[in-house]
Amino acid sequence: CGIVAGVSGRDVVPVLVQGLQRLEYRGYDSCGVAVHTDGLRRARSTARVAELVEQVKAEHIASGTGIAHTRWATHGAPAVHNAHPHFSHGPAHTSASGAAGRVALVHNGIIENHDELRAALQAKGYVFESQTDTEVIAHLIDSLYEGDVFVALQAAVAQLHGAYALAVFHKDEPHRVVGARAGSPLILGVGDGGKEHFLASDAMALAGVTDQIVYLEEGDLVDLQLGRYWVTDGQGRSFDAAQRPVKTVQ
Ligand code: GLU
Repeated sequence: CGIVAGVSGRDVVPVLVQGLQRLEYRGYDSCGVAVHTDGLRRARSTARVAELVEQVKAEHIASGTGIAHTRWATHGAPAVHNAHPHFSHGPAHTSASGAAGRVALVHNGIIENHDELRAALQAKGYVFESQTDTEVIAHLIDSLYEGDVFVALQAAVAQLHGAYALAVFHKDEPHRVVGARAGSPLILGVGDGGKEHFLASDAMALAGVTDQIVYLEEGDLVDLQLGRYWVTDGQGRSFDAAQRPVKTVQ
């Protein structure tokens, strides 16, 4: 239902949870946040965002790279194990090093071909922890990952049928969040004079953080890194500032 994500030199968790609070009016059944620290960490709740804020404080969840979500369940009951962010730990037979998370992902929308994707991923050894359509995307990106999460996202979305706004990060790329938009809204916020970047399902989620917004269009992919960003089409061709202008919102 709502997405907020960011890459910054400062702790973005306060921005992410404040953004979720600004999106609460849309309704949701659960919420969560994941960050890149030494590994992937997350907190999820079926209570209000205020409860998530307490959890984040108690567990000292903080980072310059993070993604957050409010969920309105379409596939899988409202429950903590179905709440986003979803992780991929890689196929079972490769996780000798333990169940360390590799990919973290939030999604708004519905993936129509989730059953066939799940079957193919299960055949490759991926173990599913939720009943959501979303979790297939996390494992699909993991299965396509060869060192560049943007390239993996690009290959993954080519296999998705349905509606999605996505924000994703990978454990091996600490200062990077990538996203995609098709059928569900997603905007990019440029903060602190271009030093930090955010994604959100609505510019309102970034009120008080930045009023410099790039409105993404259908089929756009976006790559956020520390101090820079790219918006591209599905083939990875970059849009220039005239094609995807930064606008000042009121
Ligand atoms: N279809 C996904 C789920 O049920 C995302 C729902 C949403 O947009 O919040 O988990």
